[in-house]
Amino acid sequence: MSEKVTTHPAAGKAAAGPFADKLLDGRAVGAEIRAEVAARVAEMTAAGARRPGLAAVLVGDDAASSLYVGMKARACEEAGMVGRTVELPAATSEAELAARLAELAADDAVDGILVQLPLPDHVDERRILELVPPEKDVDGFHPVNVGRLWSDRPALAPATPSGIVELLRRSGIEIAGRRAVVVGRSTIVGKPMAALLLRENATVTVCHSRTRDLAAVCREADLLVAAVGRAALVGPDHVREGAVVVDVGTHRVTDRATVERLFPGDAARLARFDERGSTLVGDVDFHRVAPKASAITPVPGGVGPLTVAMLLVNTLEASRRRQGLSG
Ligand code: NAP
Repeated sequence: MSEKVTTHPAAGKAAAGPFADKLLDGRAVGAEIRAEVAARVAEMTAAGARRPGLAAVLVGDDAASSLYVGMKARACEEAGMVGRTVELPAATSEAELAARLAELAADDAVDGILVQLPLPDHVDERRILELVPPEKDVDGFHPVNVGRLWSDRPALAPATPSGIVELLRRSGIEIAGRRAVVVGRSTIVGKPMAALLLRENATVTVCHSRTRDLAAVCREADLLVAAVGRAALVGPDHVREGAVVVDVGTHRVTDRATVERLFPGDAARLARFDERGSTLVGDVDFHRVAPKASAITPVPGGVGPLTVAMLLVNTLEASRRRQGLSG
């Protein structure tokens, strides 16, 4: 099966460079969704509603986590919402963290609560995530939302897989009736991805580290989603000619030889690497897979921008429900 990628009207940077005609442009689609959210926020506040509010809880000083949280809070503000960051020291006890979550749960101005992962080792992540009230659980990690998702009830679904469905939909890629293979079964990406694809009427297979002959299973896919957490693990042997490939992985590579091996002849990538001292690569060996794929997400500029955009969508939805607004 072959796919014609609809070049997104707002196609930006990701649409330039090698394999440009096959790229699924997450930056453009993410920007479009964020603009839609901003317009809806403006509309509801003009009609007298409260501005939606998101509180992001950050425990410790992990640089990447701090960057993500800052990005999410900024995106909220840009969409006209109230973005708040609750920063706690790494030594915060589970009881102290629970107490802060109880305060946020009781705060009427807070519509969405997200707890940035990973949490320090001395904190039980699962127990903490269960303290976020399901109606404010904009990450969709609470067991009530997980259960609602799997039982076809309205739910706040995890942002990354929801973003992938939006990206496919808005790029004109059909999901219904197609054979989808998801590599990875995490509660954050793999499992909700499978649930959402099933809801979109794909025939879904989920692979993991114990899957036998991973490449052969992947080759059955019309739509292959890689959420493995292993840089460039998915290669051309995993991909059937004409498949749509979605790469969720993000790995920061700081070694020039690896960049040269993964992106031979990609002068722009190497120039960016030389400028910044690092580059982001995905779970897919992009350079070798792209020639076989009919459509593929780049890293960066593919799935990443959708995650923040869908977090805003969830916050808006949570706020509208909490304020008794329909739709
Ligand atoms: P994770 O929790 O580490 O899960 C990885 C999954 O891949 C597990 O189910 C694991 O199987 C499976 N796996 C590992 N090695 C494998 C192998 N050799 N063959 C087959 N399956 C294998 O990771 P995650 O949180 O789902 O994230 C996956 C990737 O997406 C990471 O690179 C992460 O950084 C990225 N990510 C990106 C975004 C974004 O916004 N772009 C958001 C979230 C995550 P087992 O279950 O058997 O261990």
